[in-house]
Amino acid sequence: VDRMFEPVNEMMFSLTFLQGALVAGERVFGLLDHEEPFFKPERLAPGGIREGRIEFRDVSFAYDPAHPVLDGVTFTVEPGQTVALVGPTGAGKSTIAGLILRFYRPTAGEIRIDGRPLDDYDEAVLRRDVGYVLQEPFLFGGDVAFNIRLYDDVPEEAVAQAAAFVGLDRRLARLPEGLRTPVMERGAALSAGERQLVAFARVMLRNPKILILDEATASVDSETEALIEEALARMRRDRTTIIIAHRLSTIQKADRIFVLSRGRIVEAGTHETLMAKGGLYATMVRLQTEGEADFG
Ligand code: ADP
Repeated sequence: VDRMFEPVNEMMFSLTFLQGALVAGERVFGLLDHEEPFFKPERLAPGGIREGRIEFRDVSFAYDPAHPVLDGVTFTVEPGQTVALVGPTGAGKSTIAGLILRFYRPTAGEIRIDGRPLDDYDEAVLRRDVGYVLQEPFLFGGDVAFNIRLYDDVPEEAVAQAAAFVGLDRRLARLPEGLRTPVMERGAALSAGERQLVAFARVMLRNPKILILDEATASVDSETEALIEEALARMRRDRTTIIIAHRLSTIQKADRIFVLSRGRIVEAGTHETLMAKGGLYATMVRLQTEGEADFG
């Protein structure tokens, strides 16, 4: 969002990198069973996240005790639902994502996944079953295929399927080298929208039961925008999805919208109910429609 959050993003990048390295040795899931359709939740290993229900029970959190960031946040996201987190910058949206990913632990309250405390889950299970895409996905020097599979030992065919699943194949088809197209570090050779799609393919390859997306704020052309929207619609099917939304226009289809302000959920509902309510969400939508204001 702005420079203030760079350290967090950097830390998440490093974590992604480490996670990639850590899972390199194990084959994380059974992509090799060709008879099974590709993106099917049944392949989750025992002990994995099976449904994807997320519960926050009176969760509070502070990075520094003097400055509480979340203050008694309670909500449940049912399996398969899409929830959008909206609210001003600094409201605590990314912190909620970081807590679900267990980058940090609540200072009070409890988080449960499928009824089990988050702490009960294996680190490897969390990294596999909770996928996340950052606002500015980090790309490594290498080709597109490497940037999708990272250090996982998966067949090229699965990488190609993941690329196709998010619609990236249509872009790659225009490039002479397709999946072999070289990517510069931080992705300079690809457009912002294409980098986003690479990150989508990367996360889909792991078939996570829970998906956390920090919506990109970078402006993309309308054709790419449509590709991303289409990819999102496919990705969120059959999995619990939390979108940290910046452009309010993209989340009108969410099952529920949580409006955060100063570490609390101040409104929750569908786009329609929140608009009818005429509160903070309705004000934000109005401001954004009128003046291109950017929230969080
Ligand atoms: P949002 O995603 O809604 O913009 P964040 O969850 O990023 O909000 O931030 C909530 C608050 O926590 C802000 O006041 C921010 O300055 C603070 N914060 C975020 N990350 C850190 C961090 N790593 N260390 C200290 N404070 C942080």
